[in-house]
Amino acid sequence: MYKEAIRPAWAEINLSNFDYNVKQIRAKMGNDREFIGVIKADAYGHGAIQCAEVLRENGVKTFAIATLQEAITLREAGATERIICLGLTPDMYVDILAQYDIIPVVDDSRNARAISDAAAARGKTIDCLIAVDTGMGRIGYLADDLNYAVEDIRRIAVLPNIRILGMFSHMATADAFDKTFSHEQEARYNRFYDAVTQAGIPLPFRTLANSASIMELPTVLFDGCRPGIILYGQYPSHEVDKNQLSLKPVMQVKANIVHLKYVPPGFSCGYGRKFIANRPSAIATVGLGYADGYPRPYSSKARVIVNGQICNVAGNICMDQFMVDVTDVPGVKVGDEVIVMGTDGVNTISADDIADATGTINYEITCAFGQRLPKVFV
Ligand code: PLP
Repeated sequence: MYKEAIRPAWAEINLSNFDYNVKQIRAKMGNDREFIGVIKADAYGHGAIQCAEVLRENGVKTFAIATLQEAITLREAGATERIICLGLTPDMYVDILAQYDIIPVVDDSRNARAISDAAAARGKTIDCLIAVDTGMGRIGYLADDLNYAVEDIRRIAVLPNIRILGMFSHMATADAFDKTFSHEQEARYNRFYDAVTQAGIPLPFRTLANSASIMELPTVLFDGCRPGIILYGQYPSHEVDKNQLSLKPVMQVKANIVHLKYVPPGFSCGYGRKFIANRPSAIATVGLGYADGYPRPYSSKARVIVNGQICNVAGNICMDQFMVDVTDVPGVKVGDEVIVMGTDGVNTISADDIADATGTINYEITCAFGQRLPKVFV
């Protein structure tokens, strides 16, 4: 039990494993490329400030986040590195870019003008990345609309207080076994790059690669890569070749039994009475629930590890608590540790296990666990 957590449930963040992953990724990317540590969403739930510190120790000089608030949090914690905001910045927020020296992605000269004006008002010049939609269908100049794009980027290039650092795009299916679409995206990226640079607008810094690309698409690594999920020791999908990169999971989720009772057959647990004991049973209660990121749809399949034994969750996971059938755990008592996600060295319940059972991806599982649970850094 961790006193500092002020509750008997926590996310254990193993920064040595994070450090190990950073070193593996660096080796895979090579030393001559910019390592852009993607620490958005509080480092996928792992704690952005602490993860940034380990990245810094490894010589990483650029971070990427998704929202301005995330950038502000890093700056206020003392980060002096380059920070790229991966989402568009509506005009009403552009002063924040200037105030906190954040690198925006841009796909519209009117927005770029607002950014340039905001920078001018603070006597600064802002670096930006031109966002190109090569197949993600999310943000960016449409890669095939080259004439319009070149014309509009030319308007950005002449703005006085914004400087085009390079070109950014994002992969949609790099984590799929079939790389056909990824290579189409790569071709669109290169065509766009050629068209803009041949029009006399330099794009010195090219970035396209996410985690799966770093693992399996060596021709899209360009000048800078943006690893996210692999930093946290999770693979981007079941379709990537895990032998490409050795990783160690960074997050475990643990709790302590807060209540234990022995009940007769017929005793029921939880909302909807989804568990009814069919034998004399020991039922433990754990103070962690779906508001902590433990998905309610997992309830009927959920397993936890208690004193070396895999146990079933009993009934529906509640908002802040759940029950476990610990009948088969000899000597179980209040205070015993429950591994909700993680390993005891023999048994493992991974983020992928929870994701697979609930129809989602490991990304969503760690992000959700990161939101309310206290973090314990080890
Ligand atoms: N770049 C952008 C624009 C993203 O949105 C993300 C994550 O969603 C990443 C990089 C990192 O992706 P991954 O976690 O798959 O490496």
